[in-house]
Amino acid sequence: MRYSIFTLAAQTLRGHRGWKPVWRDANPRPEYDVIIVGGGGHGLATAYYLASQHGLSNIVVLEKGHIGSGNVGRNTTIIRSNYLLPGNTPFYELSMKLWEGLEQDINYNAMVSQRGVLNLYHSDAQRDAYARRGNAMRLAGADAELLDREQVRAMLPFLDYDNARFPIQGGLLQKRGGSVRHDAVAWGYARAADRCGVDIVQNCEVTGLTIDADGIHGVETSRGPIRARKVALAVAGSSSRLAAMAGLRLPIESHVLQAFVSEGLKPLIDTVVTFGAGHFYVSQSDKGGLVFGGDIDGYNSYAQRGNLPVIEDVMESGMALWPGLGRIRVLRHWGGIMDMSMDGSPIIDHTPVHGLYLNAGWCYGGFKATPASGWCFAHLIARDQSHPVAAAYRLDRFATGHVIDEKGAGAQPNLH
Ligand SMILES: Cc1cc2nc3c(=O)[nH]c(=O)nc-3n(C[C@H](O)[C@H](O)[C@H](O)COP(=O)(O)OP(=O)(O)OC[C@H]3O[C@@H](n4cnc5c(N)ncnc54)[C@H](O)[C@@H]3O)c2cc1C
Repeated sequence: MRYSIFTLAAQTLRGHRGWKPVWRDANPRPEYDVIIVGGGGHGLATAYYLASQHGLSNIVVLEKGHIGSGNVGRNTTIIRSNYLLPGNTPFYELSMKLWEGLEQDINYNAMVSQRGVLNLYHSDAQRDAYARRGNAMRLAGADAELLDREQVRAMLPFLDYDNARFPIQGGLLQKRGGSVRHDAVAWGYARAADRCGVDIVQNCEVTGLTIDADGIHGVETSRGPIRARKVALAVAGSSSRLAAMAGLRLPIESHVLQAFVSEGLKPLIDTVVTFGAGHFYVSQSDKGGLVFGGDIDGYNSYAQRGNLPVIEDVMESGMALWPGLGRIRVLRHWGGIMDMSMDGSPIIDHTPVHGLYLNAGWCYGGFKATPASGWCFAHLIARDQSHPVAAAYRLDRFATGHVIDEKGAGAQPNLH
């Protein structure tokens, strides 16, 4: 079924009884050309672009839970391409361009909302760093505007400008940044991949990789073995566990990141704001809840739940920026498992095992990368060659020293 105003009108007249499931719940076949492990945003986007851009259709996506149960359905939905380093800027700008055309491409309303992303600065040094970042962004084809304090005040009059511990001096604004409805991205890519003939198998956990001296031959799953000469891992926070099945030790640690949603409010904040003096960011969802988050919990874990000290830390940061937040009730919070790489940048590369490909290390910024990650991973799998904009995301950069340390924080995954 193709979605359009006419489909909607026809369904309305039929009392909405004619809608079909958005994708087939496929049973796994014994053999495929490509197995993608992980039915998150990145795995589904990869499957869709493999089929739509490279003409492959004998593809399966294996997901141990249900589609959308991982980080793709747990994130705070922010998209942006405000990067500084040459390894990152073209990749994230490609992602932004793909977001801009995504809904037409996959014929699905993902609620792409370019409401802007504003990074606040609180000191002269930070302003200079943002001026440099803004220049790098513009040179790479992205948009950036450096705002002074009064321009920020005109946009966000309720922040604390006068009595704050860290007075706001201005901000770096990317107007094309914004937010996208996260689970609609998973559902939209799943539907689009399914329409291209991709099998999506839910409740199918990969429990082992079948490898010999020639490379990979398939996977063991909770629903039996499946053969393929190409296996692609896109399992985000579980990357180390899957790589360990191939005898690989990744430069990745898994950490918990929490997100928070307040009670529904009238329209209050029409952009995404990040606090430059602490780790806190906030936007407002279309349902009215404030969506916010901050630091990772800071200890290694595969559990999708957070802890109380970080809740307190995030609220403190929020209050330091926006004292009025103290009057608002938090309704829910949850955690996701982050694949924190040692330089804060991702990996899209071959592994030393022939036919085994890796997409990992997204830290807490992988949602905005979803379209470009799928686009570039599909290119790598189909052509056995890195896509030019993802050429720097090599696995061996941690051995050769070609790290892409956007924050300059060193090999400290909890600081990226
Ligand atoms: C609280 C929070 C806030 C965030 N906010 C943002 C944000 O605002 N902007 C942004 O850009 N990024 C954000 N992120 C990061 C972003 O969500 C992730 O980097 C990105 O979603 C990871 O890629 P994915 O969608 O493929 O992961 P996932 O959705 O986690 O997909 C991986 C899938 O692999 C499956 N899997 C694991 N092991 C196996 C196995 N053995 N067999 C089969 N399947 C398996 C999992 O069940 C999971 O569904 C946030 C993350 C969290 C948790």
